[in-house]
Amino acid sequence: MHNNATQIIMIGDGMGGRPVPSLDGQTCLEAGDYPALDEVARGGECGYTDPIRPGQAVGSDTGHMVILGYDPVEYYTGRGPFEAKGVGIDVQPGDVAFRCNFSTVENGIIKDRRAGRITEGTHQLAAAANQAFSDGIDGVEVIFKESVAHRAALVLRGEGLDPRITDVDPHETGGKVPKCQPTAEASNDPAAQKTAAIINEFVQGVQEVFENHEVNQQRRAAGLPPANIVLPRGAGTAPHLMPFPEQYGLSSAMIVEVDLVRGLGLYLNMDVINVPEATGGMDTDEMAMAQAVVEAAASHDFVLCNIKSPGVGGPDGNAEQQMAAIAKVDRAVGHLLETFDWDSTVLMVTADHCTPVTVMDHSGDAIPAAFYGHGVRPDGVQSFGERPFAAGSVHRIHGLDIMYIMGNYAGTLPKFGA
Ligand code: ZN
Repeated sequence: MHNNATQIIMIGDGMGGRPVPSLDGQTCLEAGDYPALDEVARGGECGYTDPIRPGQAVGSDTGHMVILGYDPVEYYTGRGPFEAKGVGIDVQPGDVAFRCNFSTVENGIIKDRRAGRITEGTHQLAAAANQAFSDGIDGVEVIFKESVAHRAALVLRGEGLDPRITDVDPHETGGKVPKCQPTAEASNDPAAQKTAAIINEFVQGVQEVFENHEVNQQRRAAGLPPANIVLPRGAGTAPHLMPFPEQYGLSSAMIVEVDLVRGLGLYLNMDVINVPEATGGMDTDEMAMAQAVVEAAASHDFVLCNIKSPGVGGPDGNAEQQMAAIAKVDRAVGHLLETFDWDSTVLMVTADHCTPVTVMDHSGDAIPAAFYGHGVRPDGVQSFGERPFAAGSVHRIHGLDIMYIMGNYAGTLPKFGA
């Protein structure tokens, strides 16, 4: 019997699109020169996946949940818990978590939702907020932590909380800071009322602490907008997800660039490996990430890697940049092709969602996907792309089937029946 093969999933974030007029109607995947991706297609089984239902666009968080075999329709409770976990807060089942912005407010009106895209001083501000609420609010523990730039996360921990509350975010400059309140369905729910009241007290208290904090005195002196309010949104109860190692009996590693997806990996008890050269932008060092995959695979049964840059190019509507970003994924995949023994390794190359440059956002288009390596039956497809994959043997599958297919080729999926 063959030993179990190592499983690797390479994700080009948002890699997949629609015909682009400036590319003579080709997609960015079809128009570019990607020798490694084409080799995966030629030696592999190709097709498409739908994360939830055909046509349903997904986020990066839900997109990755599907790839890892966790049904977001059943388990997803909002982005807050993963965001909070990603910034290093120990989120526990039952906690209510939020994403937050440091913002600028003047007389109750939001002047800048990102406080001038503040990059420094948020650590000191967060420390001041935590100190102010070190005794909690109404018996509930308050944990607040800064993330990258203007972003932050907030976790409430205690009895009698409910995430069915509204965002404290006007979602546009010039809007009035709204009060947090229970959503319509939970308007008479005491837990939702209590949670909303805690959030209102937090927002007001933070504003008092931040207004004349020395970080903001320095910002005003430098002509920068002060970060004098925090706007929590996206409340979610931390979901009960079976940890990945228990779900599959596989040791697993994740190498990603975005806090949100990193948070999912941490939540699933995967080993999240940080690559210092991974920036999440066009300047990221994809070869360092590919090498990290090689090293992680030496000690793990399963490795997921996400290169973020294609998801950066797509939303800006820039086809040239999107193609340069896909070329980074291609180089990383090329390093894997050269390095691994493909008699004992299974690879999947895909995306978490499509991001057509003509849409400038995530779309619900079927996602290109190819399986390669041990056990795979090549299907005659010659190049990696939306049109060529229409002839592939994977056809169009549900994203929740991915881990079954990987497990079959790797020899880790138990038999169903006698
Ligand atoms: Zn994504």
